Amino acid sequence: MPSDTEKNDAAANPAAQRRDLHTLTHGELAELLASLGQPSFRAKQVEEWVWSKNARSFDEMTNLPKSLREALAERLTLGGAVEVARQVSSDGSRKYLLRFTDGVSVECVGMPSRSKLSVCVSTQAGCAMGCAFCATGAAGLSRSLTAAEIYEQVMHVRDDFNSRVTSVVMMGQGEPFMNYDATLAALRKLNDPDGAGIGARHLTVSTCGVIPQIMRFANEPEQFTLAISLHSAVQRTRNALMPGVRKYSLINLYNVMGEYVNKTGRRPTYEYALIGGVNDTDAELQALCDFCEGTLVHVNLIQLNEVEGSKFRPSTDLRAQDFVRRLAAVGVEATVRNSRGSDIDAACGQLRQRVIGRRSS
Ligand code: SAH
Ligand code: SF4
Repeated sequence: MPSDTEKNDAAANPAAQRRDLHTLTHGELAELLASLGQPSFRAKQVEEWVWSKNARSFDEMTNLPKSLREALAERLTLGGAVEVARQVSSDGSRKYLLRFTDGVSVECVGMPSRSKLSVCVSTQAGCAMGCAFCATGAAGLSRSLTAAEIYEQVMHVRDDFNSRVTSVVMMGQGEPFMNYDATLAALRKLNDPDGAGIGARHLTVSTCGVIPQIMRFANEPEQFTLAISLHSAVQRTRNALMPGVRKYSLINLYNVMGEYVNKTGRRPTYEYALIGGVNDTDAELQALCDFCEGTLVHVNLIQLNEVEGSKFRPSTDLRAQDFVRRLAAVGVEATVRNSRGSDIDAACGQLRQRVIGRRSS
C-alpha cells in the first residue's frame, strides 16, 4: 500500500491527471494527433523526440508547430520523474530515489567501471512477493511501473553520468515477472537501435522464480539474460525465505530451467544471498550442489545486505569461499559478487525505506 506521504503527493499533483506521452502506444499517439488535425507523419516525429532524442519538454520538439507543442503540453506529461534523494558510494555508484507524477517512488542505481556504465532499475514500486530478507518485500506493493517509467530510470542515470549505458539489470525494486508486459516493452525499447541500443545479452531480468513467466520469457525471440533468485535449494528454507513463490516448488523450478536452457541455449544465473546460519550450512551447500550439478548455470553468491530491523546476518567470507570451492568440485562455476555501493543502502529497497519511512514517521 502507498504510504500516507505518497497518497498525499498524488492528490496534490495535478500532473497525475494527464497521461504520460511515453505510455501511449503508436496508435494512441496517432489518434491524438489526428484529433488535433495533424498529418500522419507527426506521430513518427514525436516518437523520435521521445525515444531517440530523449526530449524532456515539448518545447524542445522544434520541428513541430508551436501551437501543437502547446496543445500536447496541455494534454500530456513527458516523463517527469523527479529525483527526491540520492546517495553516492565511495566506489562511484550513485543511487537515486525517483518520484513519479502520481507520487510513488522507486530506486535505481548507476554503477560505473572503466568505460562501462551499468544501471539497475526497478520494475514495480514495492513488491508483493514478501521475501523475508528484502527491504522492498517488507514494504509491500504500491503499483507496477509502466514501460516508460522503467525506461526513464535508465535515461535518468545516463543523463546524470553523461555517459552511454552499456548494461541494464532489472534488480531494483519489484518482481519483473509480476509486471511482465511492461518489463518486456521496456527491454525492447532498451534494445531498440532507435531507443537505448543496448545489446540483448547486456539486458538482464532477475526473477524470484515465477515459473509460467520463465517459459514465456524463454520463448521471446531476443537473447535477453535471465537471473533466478534461488537463495536456497532446500524447499523448507526457500519457503520460509521466499513465501511469494511457495507454490512453485524447487522441482518445478529445476525442470523449467532445464527447458529454458534447452530452448534458448543460454546460461542462466542463480542468485544466492548468503545468510549466516540460514542458507550457508553444510546441508544447504550440499543441496545447492545437487540442484546445480550437471546443469548449465552460473551461481552468483552475494553476502546478504543487512536490512534495518531484520534478524538476518550475512555469512562469512570464508564460508562464501567454501561455497565456490564445493560448487567448482561438482563442475559448477560460481563467483562471489561484490555488493556494489553497499555503503549507500544499496540493497534492494533500502534507500526508499529510509526516505519514505522517515517522511511518514
Ligand atoms: N524481484 C526480483 C528482482 C529484484 S531483487 C528478484 O527477486 O529476483 C534483486 C536481487 O536482490 C534478488 O536476487 C534479491 O533476492 C536480492 N536481494 C534482495 N534483498 C537482498 C538483501 N538484503 N541482500 C542481498 N540480496 C538481496
Ligand atoms: Fe520482491 Fe525480489 Fe524483494 Fe523478493 S527479493 S521481495 S521478489 S524485490
